[in-house]
Amino acid sequence: MSKIKGKNTKPEILVRKFLFGKGLRYRLHDKRLSGKPDLVFPKYKKVIFIHGCFWHGHEGCKYFVIPKTRTEWWLNKINRNKERDMESLQKLKNEGWEVILVWECDLKNNKEDVLNTLYHKIIN
Ligand SMILES: [Zn+2]
Repeated sequence: MSKIKGKNTKPEILVRKFLFGKGLRYRLHDKRLSGKPDLVFPKYKKVIFIHGCFWHGHEGCKYFVIPKTRTEWWLNKINRNKERDMESLQKLKNEGWEVILVWECDLKNNKEDVLNTLYHKIIN
């Protein structure tokens, strides 16, 4: 938790490498789009967000545990992140983008399946 959520995190690199290996090409962190999606596929009009379970408040996830100290501060922070996520998602949808969310825990637990499903979601 010492690292602030940022670009080029491990799960993100995993996804990028896999999809690149499948022959897909994408833009990264496109600032022109709401929420700066991690991967943008203009050809398919789809974007991917790879969400860290803690920072994005993954409900019911074992990786989303609010620290015992400064609990309220953390809750506020994560709720703000979630609100921003929802806003971005809505804006992108309004602009005609299909938004695909990938959670870090799914990638950890079920890498092959998640990656293959993701690939098919993009090309279909
Ligand atoms: Zn999770």
